Amino acid sequence: MRETVYETYSPEETRELGKKIGERANPGDVYTLNGELGVGKTTFTQGIAEGLGIAEPICSPTFTIVQVYEEGRIPFYHFDVYRIGNVEEMDEIGYEDYFYGDGLCLIEWADLIGEILPEECHEVLIEKDLEKGFDYRRITIREN
Ligand code: ADP
Ligand code: MG
Repeated sequence: MRETVYETYSPEETRELGKKIGERANPGDVYTLNGELGVGKTTFTQGIAEGLGIAEPICSPTFTIVQVYEEGRIPFYHFDVYRIGNVEEMDEIGYEDYFYGDGLCLIEWADLIGEILPEECHEVLIEKDLEKGFDYRRITIREN
């Protein structure tokens, strides 16, 4: 296991970190994203999309659970499972095609579906620390 901690002081910096990851990502990579509401998960995701070469705007796929973008270097599967009721809903979507597919799969609020996450994934945790400022974020990436 490898753990790397990044610190950002603006949304642009968080986006830039995501962009670097998107540029280097390989087909089949899975990124799980956790952290409280408004901490910067979607901001980070927008950077990843940019790094993959996706020009169209990324928003949180609140009502669809997964949004698929095909225009980048590799496919991008963006999940936001915040509103999911139970794991069976993931079966209905056919999540395994995405989790074990040939694109980059990113899951916001991944802890809510912990029981079905693949063993090999890049775990991203974004946290605030108000003592270090309103726009400060600590971003911990753990690779299994
Ligand atoms: P989430 O998807 O986790 O709910 P969003 O990315 O939608 O969060 O929103 C994050 C909010 O926090 C945005 O309004 C963004 O401008 C703000 N923000 C302030 N500082 C940062 C930072 N360092 N990194 C990311 N977002 C930040
Ligand atoms: Mg979000």
